Amino acid sequence: MIRIIKIKAKSIFTKSRIPGVDYVINQYVGCQFACKYCYAKFICKWKDYGKWGTWIEVKENAPELARKYVSGEIAMSSISDAYQPIEAKLNLTRRVLQNMSKRINLSILTKSPLVTRDIDILRLFKNIEVGLTVNTFEGKEKKLFEPLTPIQRARISALKVLHDEGIKTYAFISPIIPQVTDIGAIVKETRGFVDYYFFEVLNLRASGREFQRSLMENYPESYKTLVRDESFWKFIKELKEEIKRLNINAEGIEIHRKGWEFIPLQ
Ligand code: SF4
Repeated sequence: MIRIIKIKAKSIFTKSRIPGVDYVINQYVGCQFACKYCYAKFICKWKDYGKWGTWIEVKENAPELARKYVSGEIAMSSISDAYQPIEAKLNLTRRVLQNMSKRINLSILTKSPLVTRDIDILRLFKNIEVGLTVNTFEGKEKKLFEPLTPIQRARISALKVLHDEGIKTYAFISPIIPQVTDIGAIVKETRGFVDYYFFEVLNLRASGREFQRSLMENYPESYKTLVRDESFWKFIKELKEEIKRLNINAEGIEIHRKGWEFIPLQ
């Protein structure tokens, strides 16, 4: 049972410190997908609503606030998923998109194929891209890392549908966990309908103690690779080579070793 907290927000566009992003928009705060490694659970820890994934703050007036024009790069969303299951009922994201200026530069990132429901509105934007997170977590990994998210196949199909409808797409390959995430398999399945790829290695620190323990117990080699300097940099070097060999549109790899870092491919 999910707890819904309805609130009225003062503003919907929040200045962002994410590199390359000027504003983030979160019409929801909190996420039913409840990924075990989610970094947002710590951003929201000052909210006293209970365990991450059991509550959602719904900004009821978000559609009205979204009418304001802001320039720069806008990302949806950073501390929620705009297409988590509740959206199918509330249509809050859809109404936000309907009211937004179509001249806004918008980048949507989700794990849900529900985004394809809004293609009719997405097409009206002059500068828009939609990313689906893909990470090859299936079976045991899916149960351990993100049991409640849509399956990989559904996300890949959504990318194809979006692309076929003329929407710019990207695959957000994240979180990359050494010896688990299969980059080659993702590219093989998505090549041809993804405009570019974005790679992010797991932010182990932000994933939290519970997740770190689970990774250590179930994937000890992956954990060791992430925590030991020598093995970590060897892994990054090999990953970089692998991406280059794949000959795809990608600029580099995001890592969080000691704060945010971008490793260019060239
Ligand atoms: S879908 Fe994104 S925001 Fe939602 S729990 Fe997973 S990582 Fe966090």
